[in-house]
Order: sequence, then C-alpha cells, then structure tokens
Amino acid sequence: MTDRYCVFGNPIKHSKSPLIHGEFASQTHQAMSYTAELAPVEGFADAWRAFIADGGRGANVTVPFKGDAFALCDTLSHRAKRAQAVNTLIVGGNGRTYGDTTDGIGLVRDLAYHRVPLAGKRVLVIGAGGAVRGVLEPLLAEQPSEVVIVNRTAEKAEQLAQAFADLGNIQGGGLASIDGQFDLVINGTSASLSGELPPLPETLFAKGAWAYDMMYGSEPTVFLQWAGPRGAKLLDGLGMLVEQAAESFFLWRNVRPETASVRTLLRQSLNY
Ligand code: NDP
Repeated sequence: MTDRYCVFGNPIKHSKSPLIHGEFASQTHQAMSYTAELAPVEGFADAWRAFIADGGRGANVTVPFKGDAFALCDTLSHRAKRAQAVNTLIVGGNGRTYGDTTDGIGLVRDLAYHRVPLAGKRVLVIGAGGAVRGVLEPLLAEQPSEVVIVNRTAEKAEQLAQAFADLGNIQGGGLASIDGQFDLVINGTSASLSGELPPLPETLFAKGAWAYDMMYGSEPTVFLQWAGPRGAKLLDGLGMLVEQAAESFFLWRNVRPETASVRTLLRQSLNY
C-alpha cells in the first residue's frame, strides 16, 4: 500500500514540493505519493482531518496555514513551539497529529552546503515575520557573534529579539537602526515578492560577505540585484526549500535523501 503525503496551501498550484518529494521518493525507493492540495482559507483543520481519514500519513504546510497547523497539533516539537509555526505534520499512533518545523534547519543546512561561515560572524536578518521566527533558533545555535533583526515595523523585531535572547547575542530594531557591517545579510521579508527593496545602507557588507534572500524565482530578486554590485556573494532560497523538504522527508520516512541532484533539477525547472 502506498503511503500518502501532500503539501497544503492556498494558492498551491505553483508549489515545487511535489517535484522535490517525488525525486526523494524515487531516489530512496519509498512507496509513497505526494500531491499538492488546495485547502480553503477558513478550513484547514477540516482538510487535514479529511486527508487523514483518507489514509494520509503526513503533510507539509505552506502559506497561509503554518499557524493553523500549529494550533491543531496534539504534540509539538521543541523547535515548532519556539517558531510558533508548523510546516510538517505527521500522523502518529491513535491518529494523533505531531507537528514540527523544518524551515530553520533548511536555511542552516543550505548555508552549510554553500560553506557560508556562521560561528563568530555578524548576521543581519531583515524582516520579523513567520519565516524569520522559524530560523532564529537554528541560526543562533551556530554561535554567530551577533544576530541583528531589523523590520519595517520595529516593535516586531524588538519582540523577536526578546523572545530569543536566552539563546545568544540578539538585538532587534527598525530598519533605520542598522549600524556597521555584516558578514551575512538575510532578507526574510516578503518585499521581494512585490519587487520592493527595504531601504538599506550602502556600506552594509563586510569584506567577503554573503547576501541571502529567502525568496527564489526564475531571476535574481531585487535584493540580490542590489547586493551583487555592493560586493556580496549571492544566494537565493531555493536550497532552503530543498533542505527543509529533505528534513520533512526524513521525519516521515526515517531516510535521508540526497539533495544536490534535486537542487540542480529544481534550478533547471526555473530556467535560472
Ligand atoms: P510574513 O508575511 O510572515 O512576514 C513578512 C515580512 O516582510 C514582515 O517582516 C514584513 O514587515 C516584511 N515586509 C513585507 N513587505 C515589505 C516591504 N515592502 N518593505 C519592508 N518589509 C516588508 O512572511 P513570511 O515570513 O512567511 O515569508 C517571508 C519570505 O520568506 C517570503 O518571501 C517567503 O517566500 C520566504 N520563505 C522562503 C522559504 C524557503 O523555503 N525558501 C520558506 C518560508 C518563507 P512588517 O512586519 O512591517 O509588515
């Protein structure tokens, strides 16, 4: 019997997750299917219950349901509690739902894949939404010298910094508070989606610095287009997507897929 998995979102049609998990499954010889499922904006919990009743074993969850998924879980991982979001659902014993989040580990694994150093480095994170909240714990675990979070709405960055202050040296503030140079600058805002660039100082990047945009697409984001001529090495969020998927796959199947070939395949599918 084939085990069923899916990704829930709204919209969901353009999701790359079925392609990624299809590759992981064939590579590791797992008898499973993985589909994209459109859930109604107000009806995520019902969609998940119907999926379980139909033999579903687990799911990924994307915009706008990561908070709904967090709310419906019977048990949560430590990192999901910290992130207050769930992107991976697992059906456990007695049909109970376990929730975890793999976005943060996805980012850190992608940085490691590209040999971006974190220990002792100064990191700037722009944005204070769900994605940023999810990456702070694994990022701080790599022991950067400092993480600075800045956001258009300064209070959200300040609150996030407070919430994670027990894990390392972390500061929060408004965009205008950016001071000094950074070894890694992560754009975790959704500004790139609308082709916008938050106002940033010209001298942001230290020598040899990296610029990382969590967004990916068929061309460099506005942030990466800005960062390149200012001397930064550039990375988009495609690798993060693949690595978070690999961690979800491992949670479901207890098998770790190889990601390099899937990165290449995905890049080809985007023609970039
Ligand atoms: P949220 O809606 O939770 O947060 C959006 C953030 O962007 C807020 O901090 C918001 O600031 C800021 N923002 C939006 N527009 C602007 C603007 N014009 N100028 C400055 N700041 C702006 O989104 P998520 O955290 O869920 O997602 C953020 C990004 O991360 C998206 O691009 C998403 O695609 C990407 N992502 C990538 C993943 C991957 O695997 N590669 C996984 C998850 C997310 P304010 O608080 O002031 O409104």
